[in-house]
Amino acid sequence: MPRKVMQGLAGEDAVVERTVFNDIVTGLQERGYTVYGTVNEKGAGIFRPLGDAGEFSLRCTGGTMPPKDLWYPPFETLFTYDRQTGEFHTDIEETRHAVFGIRPCDVHALLALDEVFLGGEYQDPYYRARRVDLPLIVFNCVEAGDTCFCSSMGTGPGLDHDYDLLITDLGRSNGEGSERFLLEVGSSRGGELARGLRGEAAVDEDYQVKKRRLQETAAGERITLNTGDLPRLMHNGHDHPYWREVTDKCFGCANCTSVCPTCYCADIFDETDFSLRETRRKRRWSWCFLVEFGAVHGGNFREERIDRLRQFMQHKLNFSMGQYGFFHCVGCGRCIVWCPANIDIAQTGRVIRGDA
Ligand code: SF4
Ligand code: SF4
Repeated sequence: MPRKVMQGLAGEDAVVERTVFNDIVTGLQERGYTVYGTVNEKGAGIFRPLGDAGEFSLRCTGGTMPPKDLWYPPFETLFTYDRQTGEFHTDIEETRHAVFGIRPCDVHALLALDEVFLGGEYQDPYYRARRVDLPLIVFNCVEAGDTCFCSSMGTGPGLDHDYDLLITDLGRSNGEGSERFLLEVGSSRGGELARGLRGEAAVDEDYQVKKRRLQETAAGERITLNTGDLPRLMHNGHDHPYWREVTDKCFGCANCTSVCPTCYCADIFDETDFSLRETRRKRRWSWCFLVEFGAVHGGNFREERIDRLRQFMQHKLNFSMGQYGFFHCVGCGRCIVWCPANIDIAQTGRVIRGDA
């Protein structure tokens, strides 16, 4: 079918070549955004500011670490208190970050954190300042990582909401020719970014190729977890002997929680300078896997490692459903990658529910 080749898109879906990535990154930078993307550094996919799209690595899938620190940094000062004047000072600045190449699972993780920080009666102004203007250029996954199980969790490998631009690698026509990417516009901001780019109008066949590639990716995921009735089965499996078996291998290092894109717990503490003039109240990430997390006056409510491991996994595969109505595991697989004991949350879920 002949295609309409356009010199400058008017903000609609199109098939584009890789050269367009640079135009998108430049377009964002010209609008004042610092653009983060996955860069391959010594074999690890790191989200860092891009100079241009040439640094971006398509093969990094979700990245070794999630981009969570862009909207929820590991350390931050909440306010300062001047002991001499008695004044409190809060410095909340809206950031202008954009993410180029975020994957569907990490968008779902971001939406989960939106619920945590902005979804209730009390909203977190620090989080909101980083979230309010955050363009997302999402790449659908056409190749699953070894530990991905997003299709089980319903968070990938494709996305159909909450993106500004959505890019899917369509491969090369007949296995030859130049690379082709389907560029879909999901917001007026995305439409503005797409305006003027060079591409061809997308046709039905392009959406069919996308659909097929996503189906193949989902089918290729080696890890699976049946989530049907999972919260109830996890609840009933609280005393399953597998918890002891898996705990005996666990080092309690908390790697799993520190790389998880949906973990949001924090410790709040005060720091006073030597002159005793100024006190800063700070927030830093903390995790239920740390023994001190459960320390309260007079004792510790999760002193045993088995209780901490079970809390982490039950929260992801059970409690989150009761709290928020969806799982706080998005199947990114990072906790499996980073676990020095080869502990696998999906495998644990399968055993507890009786599938393994
Ligand atoms: S629990 Fe593991 S697989 Fe699930 S979202 Fe967190 S890091 Fe990813
Ligand atoms: S990464 Fe593995 S060994 Fe470390 S605390 Fe988590 S489950 Fe235990």
